[in-house]
Amino acid sequence: MDETTRPHLDTIFRRLIAATGPISVAHYMAEANAHYYAHRDPLGSAGDFITAPEISQMFGEMIGLWLADLWTRAGKPDPCHYVELGPGRGTLAADALRAAARYGLSPTIHLVEGSEELRAMQRMRIAGAHWHDTLETVPQDAPMLLVANEFFDALPVRHIVATEQGWRERMVAHDGERFLPIAGERPLDTLVPEIFAQAPAGTIIETSPASAAIAFEIARRLKQQHGTALIIDYGYAEPRTGSSLQAVKDHEKVDPFSNPGETDLSALVNFGDLGRIAEAQEIDFSGPVGQGFWLRTLGIEHRAAALASSSPDAQADIASALHRLTDHAEMGDLFKVCAMTSPRWPQGEGFDVTI
Ligand code: SAH
Repeated sequence: MDETTRPHLDTIFRRLIAATGPISVAHYMAEANAHYYAHRDPLGSAGDFITAPEISQMFGEMIGLWLADLWTRAGKPDPCHYVELGPGRGTLAADALRAAARYGLSPTIHLVEGSEELRAMQRMRIAGAHWHDTLETVPQDAPMLLVANEFFDALPVRHIVATEQGWRERMVAHDGERFLPIAGERPLDTLVPEIFAQAPAGTIIETSPASAAIAFEIARRLKQQHGTALIIDYGYAEPRTGSSLQAVKDHEKVDPFSNPGETDLSALVNFGDLGRIAEAQEIDFSGPVGQGFWLRTLGIEHRAAALASSSPDAQADIASALHRLTDHAEMGDLFKVCAMTSPRWPQGEGFDVTI
């Protein structure tokens, strides 16, 4: 359908809310992002936001080296599956697989991507890949090397809000002019962690059942088929309150409750939850550590120096990319890296903060 005949999600949501009442924040976010990603390439300077692999090839290369090192120490299992969740333009996969191939790692490639538009871009960059709508259909017959960069932050979050009457699901209503969040009627007191139970009215607790379900499936597979999962995203490790739901359009933050489906909605990833989910299934969990620390430990500065000496004209660009990826005021601290690894495998590099 083209832009002129496709009804705006705005209209669809307004009709739905008028007919059946307010919808949950999670429902709103899930539909809005499915619509958003289905109809555009949001990445890069001409898009709405930029991600680490689009900043520099060094990012994907470090991931490729990390995978190849772990795979080598695990005894070079063959066959082996490279699995990426939400590969965007396919840049990370292309850079990582090129770097890994130098060490003899040439896995089969499975890309989990919901957007047809982005699948078309991935097809142009990655030869011989298989595409999946969800992780469910990815083969389970060999160890997997899974990568997810800025995937979990796009998954829907559920909001629980404190009111004078108790904890309620936070919903999205429409007042005739605009969408707005309100406290719903459904009591959710039993879902609130003990430490927050007495929080004042207005406090919001964010959880992501969708992320938890995928993390659970990753851990279950690692236990059964072995391998590792490298997850990189912006997020936090300690329990916290407050909404982190944000919308971005043209590289600017905008109101998440206006223009649904036309802005990128994301929320911080709860790395503490990912760790608990892994450990509950006896999967080793490393991190989270800052992206800057992880990349430096793996030697990104040496890679930058090598690239700069082979193309002196690009020296300033390489230095600026290195700064954006690793500096604490840029992506270095807010973005975090963690790994889930099956206990039969060795531990991945870059998580030892005691050195
Ligand atoms: N990893 C890429 C792209 C990040 S944008 C990069 O770092 O550049 C988020 C990606 O996740 C997009 O490819 C988007 O289409 C995909 N995505 C978001 N929600 C998804 C879902 N529920 N199922 C499958 N893919 C999804």
